[in-house]
Amino acid sequence: MIYKRSSALFAEAEKVIPGGVNSPVRAFKGVGGTPIFVKEAKGPYLFDEDGNRLIDYINSWGPMILGHAFEPVVNAVIEKAKKGTSFGMPTEIETEIAELAVSMVPNIDKIRFVNSGTEACMSAVRLARGFTGKDKIIKFAGCYHGHSDSFLIQAGSGASTFGTPNSPGVTTGTAKDTLLARYNDLANVEALIEANKGEIACIIIEPVAGNMGCIPPKEGFLQGLRVLCDANNILLIFDEVMTGFRLAKGGAQQLFNIKADIVCFGKVIGGGLPVGAFAARNEIMNYLAPLGPVYQAGTLSGNPLAMAAGLAMLTELNSDKDVFNRLAEKTAYLHKGIAKVLDENNVEYTINRQGSMISVHFAKDEVVDFDSSAKGNNETFKTFFHGMLNAGVYIAPSAFETWFITDALSYQDLDFTIEAVNTVAKTL
Ligand code: PMP
Repeated sequence: MIYKRSSALFAEAEKVIPGGVNSPVRAFKGVGGTPIFVKEAKGPYLFDEDGNRLIDYINSWGPMILGHAFEPVVNAVIEKAKKGTSFGMPTEIETEIAELAVSMVPNIDKIRFVNSGTEACMSAVRLARGFTGKDKIIKFAGCYHGHSDSFLIQAGSGASTFGTPNSPGVTTGTAKDTLLARYNDLANVEALIEANKGEIACIIIEPVAGNMGCIPPKEGFLQGLRVLCDANNILLIFDEVMTGFRLAKGGAQQLFNIKADIVCFGKVIGGGLPVGAFAARNEIMNYLAPLGPVYQAGTLSGNPLAMAAGLAMLTELNSDKDVFNRLAEKTAYLHKGIAKVLDENNVEYTINRQGSMISVHFAKDEVVDFDSSAKGNNETFKTFFHGMLNAGVYIAPSAFETWFITDALSYQDLDFTIEAVNTVAKTL
């Protein structure tokens, strides 16, 4: 494929934007080569500035679960925009989307909208600290909850690709309040709680991890966290920025039948516009300003265009009874097809999958936490990434990312992808 125009655009961008990008992983640092500049997208396809068509397995890192330029969302945004784009005052549509979200997700009474997943998780932790009167938090190595200071202690995703798990600029004062646990290791969490008795406000977790590749929770792990939280007056925060409105209508809480105390959202809930949200039962949400003492705010929070996009997206997901099954079936089909051709080509791999999240780890042992994910062969991944790209399939430019399946993918697209893997596997 030719990336002449993308290369030229990247060179221009580098002069005025740090690294040429507004979010690090887009720069392809982990895989090398030229970042692709997108011109437009429709359904399951991206069209780049050089005229290449790519089947998209990232889908804006999750939001485009029904495909790009999904008409009900696009139309809702256009109609709203004609009536003004921001007021900083209450609008009816905020209540409409809040009512719908609360009706779809278990264990929440109220929801507050923000502008990103980062804001959602940052605010959820502040609320948990305010509500419990405790300072420390537990997060899991390899889980990513956005780029607010408390989480950049050893993040996965972009940060691990760069091998800089701790970012300069995060103070040691902040770092000391974040305890790191091993994903899928309940004994490790228990030990941290014991060693910090009465000091931990919350445990925040991706109920299915997606930022160290896809890693589902082991049987009993999330249940175990629930029990530990209840026994120690700790709030359990599910970061459902990836899993919310993706794994099921009610997200991971519904899928695994586990109650979280606070739930964070992003990605799908905004239909591709900048939206995040956090939600909980009344007792906790009423602790937020202006009702309660914990401060949190936003000029553009509840923005009408963002709410229109989110409402159109949730309405569609709520009314389509079969969408989550279809997504899971397509993902299972892809899993089976890719596994078959990798086996035939004697490639060492582990595929993890949950619902419409899937990732191929080039590691032969099971991948259950950050350490086992990091054992994947990054050189193989790089060759795989570029081979797939050349074949017209776009996967994340980092081995630490999950693939996000969209319902816009046809079985023909999936077969095309499996065939591409077959071709690329011969070069690994
Ligand atoms: N939580 C999770 C689980 C995420 O995957 C992400 C983003 N990939 C975030 C939080 C942060 O969201 P945002 O990029 O919208 O700030």
